[in-house]
Amino acid sequence: MIIRIGHLYPDMLNLYGDRGNIIALTVRMKSRGIDVQTDAITMGKAFNADDYDILFIGGGQDFEQDVLLDDLKKGKDIEINRAIQNGTPLLAICGGYQMLGKYYKTYDGKMLEYMGALDFYTEGKEERMIGNYAYKTKEGIEVVGFENHSGRTYLGKCIEPLGTIIKGYGNNGEDGTEGVRYKNTFGTYSHGPVLPKNPQLADLLISKAIENKYGKTELAPLDDSLEEKAKEQVMKLYIK
Ligand code: GLN
Repeated sequence: MIIRIGHLYPDMLNLYGDRGNIIALTVRMKSRGIDVQTDAITMGKAFNADDYDILFIGGGQDFEQDVLLDDLKKGKDIEINRAIQNGTPLLAICGGYQMLGKYYKTYDGKMLEYMGALDFYTEGKEERMIGNYAYKTKEGIEVVGFENHSGRTYLGKCIEPLGTIIKGYGNNGEDGTEGVRYKNTFGTYSHGPVLPKNPQLADLLISKAIENKYGKTELAPLDDSLEEKAKEQVMKLYIK
């Protein structure tokens, strides 16, 4: 088995070690005898969504989000949208998550028109939402992460959040939602990076990718005692 990961804008969008998500996915697959190939899809590089089984976009500052907008609109937006609709597992963090929506209006009034693949928009405020936080997915997975964003994201009526907030701000600090979930797309504000501390979320992405390509398979269990300990510590120190 081989799973191909497309890492979009790794040199531009990589806050708080978001790249660690790729490492976590890779280690968890290789430990199970699954080969992994990761391509960096940088600005100017051609991108065909059919070449990948998992896509990843990290977070960035308003500046980088603005700089890469032209490149995104030269076709990567169409490919990402196609992957979303085809059910390719996609993890998008913070600024990368915001890019899947309709627009991001920065706190200083700059309008960044995004791809509108999913029905939500984001508006920035000067006061940032910062801190360790946690939320629960519909499977009951408690996810811990670190958020630092100016943008407040508001989901459309027909779109599901990734989770409900246990503690922290999440999408907007008002409605108790965090992130977005559509088919196999997961958008979240969690930096940290999120997957090493939340192995169940990593395995959810991996099993969707394998199912798409090879049919339903049971993932062999791994020894997650260190990961669970890290998560427990975050929960104990900052959340509960
Ligand atoms: N620039 C965006 C914001 O401040 C995203 C930040 C991030 O990726 N951490 O909302």
